[in-house]
Amino acid sequence: MVIDCKHVWEHISGYLDGTLAPEQLEQVQKHLEHCEICSAILDSTRNILILTADDRVFELPLGFSERLHARLDDEIKRISPEVT
Ligand SMILES: [Zn+2]
Repeated sequence: MVIDCKHVWEHISGYLDGTLAPEQLEQVQKHLEHCEICSAILDSTRNILILTADDRVFELPLGFSERLHARLDDEIKRISPEVT
């Protein structure tokens, strides 16, 4: 099964958290191997998470997911304006 970029973006936080089902993980990894856009977004997202984790190791701030998704949307628009 081939998945598109938007499908991958929905799973990025789960991918980084390690909460994806094995078949989802495999699909995302396969997609990342050949998609520069998603690889760039994954790198950005990972950096955001690392920065956030520095301050709040034990507790995610309220609204964290919303801000992460807003930030992701910005990244996606920046990297690939034609997609959204
Ligand atoms: Zn992609």
